[in-house]
Amino acid sequence: MKTSLSVGKIMGIPIKLHITFLFILPVIAYFFAFSNVNIMGFPLGFGGVKSLLIKCVFGTLAAILFFGCILIHELGHSYVALRHQAKIKSITLLIFGGVASMEETPKDPGIECGIAIAGPLVSLLIGFLSGFIFFLLSYLNLFITLQTLFSILSFYNIMLAGFNILPAFPMDGGRVLRAFLATKMGYMDATKKAAGVGKAFAVFMGVLGFFLLPGGIWFLLIAFIIYIAASEEEKSTLVSVTLEGIRVKDLMTESVVTVSPEMSVSDFVDFMLKTKHMGYPVFDGSLLGIVTLNDVRKIPVENRISTRVKEIMTKNVIAVKPETSAVEALKLMARSNIGRLLVIKDNRVVGIVSRTDLIRSIQILQ
Ligand SMILES: [Zn+2]
Repeated sequence: MKTSLSVGKIMGIPIKLHITFLFILPVIAYFFAFSNVNIMGFPLGFGGVKSLLIKCVFGTLAAILFFGCILIHELGHSYVALRHQAKIKSITLLIFGGVASMEETPKDPGIECGIAIAGPLVSLLIGFLSGFIFFLLSYLNLFITLQTLFSILSFYNIMLAGFNILPAFPMDGGRVLRAFLATKMGYMDATKKAAGVGKAFAVFMGVLGFFLLPGGIWFLLIAFIIYIAASEEEKSTLVSVTLEGIRVKDLMTESVVTVSPEMSVSDFVDFMLKTKHMGYPVFDGSLLGIVTLNDVRKIPVENRISTRVKEIMTKNVIAVKPETSAVEALKLMARSNIGRLLVIKDNRVVGIVSRTDLIRSIQILQ
């Protein structure tokens, strides 16, 4: 399912809006338009404005500008990343902020730290700048609606910076913490420790949220997101560190057993029992597809004699080269939701590599 909408490119990076963002934007606009909150002298809504039209226009404007600031925060990370030749795949705006997804996290602590800190610094800068304009306007007693607009931008950008320096993945502070730890210990141990801090933080926040219900529901939600993100970061780092430098050819099964497209499904089942593989390339002078146990399961037993392999095989074969990195192969399998990849060299099938092969080698090497 497509869950985000591409809206353009900045610095060559595709910018996307996640579906959850499209839901939250009107809610935030509504909140800005009608609330009358004032925190520490910062007016944070246009509730006091008399005209309904002006309330709505400025509420929407504030919401859009605020998300624009989140985008600039992510561009801050991306700018530093690009300067260190790290590739940014895309920036997505979600319900709780933005995410700049990198092809691979740089394992140099200095660079990782620089990338992580750039976002909160940008937010802080916008916060102070807007705050300055807010104070200037209120000192001169000018444009009261504009004062509120800059007050909102100032307050929430400083909040955004503060929230992001929390030392918990996926917050930027989590990355700074890992980068710091990585100067003292191995990268993997640093990730485990940083993820541990993130999880502990999530549990603390969850408990706090529980006592603050119903308002605490936000804490519970954020705690949940932090916990999942910390676990994910730990897992993906484990995989990429363990499989570093390993290529598909090091793990693939070379004795590939192929089957003919004309073979009946019942004969194929017997053949599978004898040869004990889970997936077979279908070959007839050239590669036609791949057939697995899952394909067989879809055919009722009584129809297996009359059905041929070519009718049940998957024709869209996803293949890799022997030189493809093991991490890339694993990502490709996850993306396409398949369990095995054919390894092809000069138009010939030279091997087959399965998710099980990769997982097993991670367990052995770890
Ligand atoms: Zn950030």
